Amino acid sequence: MVPPLYPDYPPELSSAQEQYLLSNLKDWSIAHGLAVRPAPSFVPTSQDPSGALATTAPVTLFPSLFPRACFEEALAIQKAYNELYSAIARDEEWLQAIVEELIGIDDFVGKLWQTHLEVKREGYVQDLSLGLFRSDYMVHSEPSTASPSIGLKQVEFNTIASSFGGLSSQVSILHNYLLTIDAYPVSATTILRKSSLAPSDSSSSLAKGLAAAHSAYGSPRTSHPMCVLFIVQDPERNVFDQRHLEYALLAEGGVRSFRLPFHRTLLDTRLEADRTLVYVPPSIPSAAYEVTTVYFRAGYSPDDYPRTEDWRARFHLERSRAIKCPSILTHLAGCKKIQQVLATPHSPHLKQFLPEDNVASRVLATFAPIYPLDESQAGIEARKLATDPESASRYVLKPQREGGGNNIYRKAIPLFLESLPEKSWPAYILMEMIEPPVLKNAILRNGEVQRGGVIGELGVYGVCLWRNGSGGDAGEVLQNWEAGYLLRTKGNQSEEGGVAAGFGAVDSCCLVDA
Ligand code: ADP
Ligand code: MG
Repeated sequence: MVPPLYPDYPPELSSAQEQYLLSNLKDWSIAHGLAVRPAPSFVPTSQDPSGALATTAPVTLFPSLFPRACFEEALAIQKAYNELYSAIARDEEWLQAIVEELIGIDDFVGKLWQTHLEVKREGYVQDLSLGLFRSDYMVHSEPSTASPSIGLKQVEFNTIASSFGGLSSQVSILHNYLLTIDAYPVSATTILRKSSLAPSDSSSSLAKGLAAAHSAYGSPRTSHPMCVLFIVQDPERNVFDQRHLEYALLAEGGVRSFRLPFHRTLLDTRLEADRTLVYVPPSIPSAAYEVTTVYFRAGYSPDDYPRTEDWRARFHLERSRAIKCPSILTHLAGCKKIQQVLATPHSPHLKQFLPEDNVASRVLATFAPIYPLDESQAGIEARKLATDPESASRYVLKPQREGGGNNIYRKAIPLFLESLPEKSWPAYILMEMIEPPVLKNAILRNGEVQRGGVIGELGVYGVCLWRNGSGGDAGEVLQNWEAGYLLRTKGNQSEEGGVAAGFGAVDSCCLVDA
């Protein structure tokens, strides 16, 4: 989909049309929880000291165009990606070899690994693991070739706190609603039709994943009722995204869940002698719940661990009998270093985890070249590319972090590396920039419409529940499904795409033939 194919999309709006669209978009969004807590820069804390206000989540006015073939392929390979990351999380020895390269230079990865080892020494008492994954892609266009071609390239694979599954379902319904009520001009309807809009069932599908783990936990060990525990940040701007999952889990799965701020873990939960995890809600101290599943929407960033107790809290949850989403090994499998090891050109590793050639080749086709910055041959090549300002401008440098705002882009790479002792370089990976076609759209953020060139990032959710096994037993996948999608759209001037981090907007796909 090279943009000139659809030069008139999205259509221009008269001011009356825009007013109609915006008032419907804002009201629908608040009425249906397509919302976030406003950033302090938008509504200062002094104006809203109790955090009572909510506002529309950053959202696009129109669904963005997305090539149908790329969309379908991304959804079709999600089950293979689930299988791949479940297999990696089960291969402790393979993970260890990679993690050990990071331990001395990345304190956070080191602490996660130590926490795993500590639990392993004592012995894990839960053999099941849940992954609620999201594989992120951009459409890459090769304008340099004679006939420009496009393909799907993976940005990253998320194994912890994969967010926006709740809001994503809502935004696809919102765009459909706006079409139904004629908020889009008739001139757009040759492209923008009901049959082109892609719904996302991520909210319900991810909740079904939590319900599957809850049920696989089996019989209770105590006389308490059972629950799922969402481990959350405090404060949390993106609370409504999580609430959609909570409500779907209750309404469709009949499963009770609670929100536990990560820093309260040791205060509000305890382990029984057999390491059953028990949650005592501070609001009902006489009640207690047996926790079947711990769902981390926090704990992925070093900022979540300001005190030593916070590491004790992670250890406490990891050694419990509850099913973890994710386990520490699954969390570590999501390190950018793992993605690099798989995607370094000529890497032999993918085959080991995806033995079927036709499956592995489709996954492989989505890898953009990624290099280590160590002293291997590929690493030495990459160091040359990263320190030369000319070649560095085609790359992004990434540490082993999640949540946005951590990467170093293009021309900033050489100076950044210069400021860093060389022994720390292997903590980063060097990835070729994906160059998606620039489209047009308008974004509503904090009450204001921003217009201009945008680029999209497609995320595909996956649910995978597996048994880890031990010793000679390699475990097995018990449940595996693709779980809907997310489209995030950002201004083409920004390198970062995080919605919560203030860069992107939630969007839905209007599928077109490229
Ligand atoms: P995080 O874990 O912080 O989300 P990502 O790898 O997803 O890290 O990078 C953050 C953002 O940077 C992405 O959402 C995307 O907009 C941009 N980005 C990352 N890698 C690439 C790439 N190879 N090409 C183009 N943009 C990229
Ligand atoms: Mg990301």
